[in-house]
Amino acid sequence: MKAAKRLVILLLAVCLLLDVWVAMRDNPLFRNAPTGDVTVLEVLPSSSAAVTETVPASSQAASSAAESEAEPASSQPASSQAASSQAASSQATSSQAASSQAASSQAASSAASQATASSKPASSQATASHAPAKPSKPAKETNQTKIVNYVTRPTYASVQSEIAALAEAYPDLIRVSSIGTSVQGRDLTMLTLGNGRAEACIIAGIHARESVSVSFLMRCVEEYAAAYVSKSGKMGGYNMQNLLDVYTLYIVPLSNPDGLEIVGGRAEPAVRVAYEKDQDISDYKGNANGVNLNKNFPLLWDKIDTKCNKPHAEKYKGPAAASEPETQALMALCEAHDFMWMTSIHVRGDCVYWSDKTNPSVGQSAVMAQKLKERLDFYKCPTSEKVEGYGGGFENWFRQQYDRPGLCLELMPLDYFVTPLSDETHSIFSTATRWDLTKKAIPLLMYFGFIY
Ligand SMILES: [Zn+2]
Repeated sequence: MKAAKRLVILLLAVCLLLDVWVAMRDNPLFRNAPTGDVTVLEVLPSSSAAVTETVPASSQAASSAAESEAEPASSQPASSQAASSQAASSQATSSQAASSQAASSQAASSAASQATASSKPASSQATASHAPAKPSKPAKETNQTKIVNYVTRPTYASVQSEIAALAEAYPDLIRVSSIGTSVQGRDLTMLTLGNGRAEACIIAGIHARESVSVSFLMRCVEEYAAAYVSKSGKMGGYNMQNLLDVYTLYIVPLSNPDGLEIVGGRAEPAVRVAYEKDQDISDYKGNANGVNLNKNFPLLWDKIDTKCNKPHAEKYKGPAAASEPETQALMALCEAHDFMWMTSIHVRGDCVYWSDKTNPSVGQSAVMAQKLKERLDFYKCPTSEKVEGYGGGFENWFRQQYDRPGLCLELMPLDYFVTPLSDETHSIFSTATRWDLTKKAIPLLMYFGFIY
């Protein structure tokens, strides 16, 4: 009898162990844990390799600092300017691409395949270092956008309905929530993309007139999601399946909805807003209170002297630090999560701001900026020196608050100085975002911004 009892106890113990093993195997948190399983190793570089990459001295010693994200012109090297204007003129004359989404998609698609052929994506390098037995065939990639209309000028309503449609199309990958409401009560809608444990934050549209940044980020979401469910799982050479199993991205594509509506003529500012001479609604950057949200965050806010103490199209930092509901919502979002890094998408300059005098280099930020320069041809801005240029900025506040990378990505060449007020100009601008390369910016940041 004793032997039988022992046998029963032994059998029970074995069953229990089996149960635990199955639970761990099926749990995505364990499956995707960024601690050395094969999936992760194939896609992510080891932290030491990424961290020890150094930034060449020459790019550090670039010419005088570009202080305002809207005016990086003076600090860009001549060659980059020339390249920019070339790109701009060829894009601007391409009325075919502007005329329909299909045409643009085709152009983007062919550009993407050229880029895939010529560039060396990060993930293929990583795969090489963890060499699989048989190299897989290069995946055929096509433009995937079916829901997001990045050609027509977005509105608050169109963005809301596209977000809902994306969540419906990709229920296992995209979830929708709200981080708060704007001054005029519009929803600050957030979508989360991915199922991983690593968290990062990406926003667009904080400046009212920069509708192109909103379209761009929405387009990214759809392309990444489509790549995730595709056979190859890849986009621009990056394995989106692996990346989105490791990461969850917290995305606010329209962080200043009132501003977008005001510039689009569908809403009025809540207060009387001052303009500079010769300015009009196309220069409007603020929220409904005429506050430039990217000067409203509590980083050296007291020290910012924009020579403007009332609601203004672009210069007003607000009556107090974090006075605006949009600012507060974004801060609360960061507080509620453990973001490894964040980036804010803006328009004009084809450049990346990653460093300021208060926090010159934070974590992986130098590596991330350098890779954006080397691989995607972004101009790497020098350290912002003047408080008027970087004080109160979302990304600058994030660096200070969390000691982690906060980057500002500026799309489009400098030549595009006019805010797109019509669908036609918006479509031309959308094609000028160098989509074939810039669509890889976020996966590149996921890759190089990852730390164990
Ligand atoms: Zn901006």
